[in-house]
Amino acid sequence: MSLVLFAKIAWAVGVVSWYVLRIPFQRKAKRQQVADARHRTARDMTLLSISTLGLGVLPAIYALTSFPRFASYTPVPAQVVAGVLVFAAALWLFWRTHRQLGRNWSVTLEIKDKHKLITSGVYERVRHPMYSAFFLWALAQALLLPNFIAGPAGLVGFGTLFLFRVGREEKMMREAFGAEYEAYEKRTKRVIPGLY
Ligand code: SAH
Repeated sequence: MSLVLFAKIAWAVGVVSWYVLRIPFQRKAKRQQVADARHRTARDMTLLSISTLGLGVLPAIYALTSFPRFASYTPVPAQVVAGVLVFAAALWLFWRTHRQLGRNWSVTLEIKDKHKLITSGVYERVRHPMYSAFFLWALAQALLLPNFIAGPAGLVGFGTLFLFRVGREEKMMREAFGAEYEAYEKRTKRVIPGLY
């Protein structure tokens, strides 16, 4: 098997694992009543589509057809090894964040009935560890897919969602939890412990 084929398969295994890992949490979250869906906007749906394009559609087209060929290059083995490790770290963090958010999780922005603010475990030092996990996934994609367009597409796609969403999510959480969230904001970073 060529290194490129191995890397493409590793990428696909990562994405499928993420999808499967989410199924039980998705079921649980769907059963919760939504108390505030005002932030579930067409804008947020558009951002989710952009992210899906970069993390799913474009890399899948590349993995299956090697399109766009002009942007392909020969990978070095170390980047593929790093890609596998980073994807594994992303999946671990996804699992932790889902376990901890439980019924409070949603794909888009919403506040549930009986929504609880989670501030411990992987939420202790950063407010958005699930977004940290998505950035790790996007980084793994850039390492695993040796193509200047399909590789970084995840960073661009998820980065767009993050940049345009995170401020609104925090505003929504401040409205729902008031001083409790403000204090949480003061003692934490967004996605990288101690840095940002
Ligand atoms: N930004 C968080 C959560 C992503 S899921 C992370 O990256 O880990 C998005 C939903 O999670 C939002 O609609 C919000 O209702 C909820 N949420 C975000 N932060 C939360 C927290 N600290 N505790 C409980 N729910 C939270």
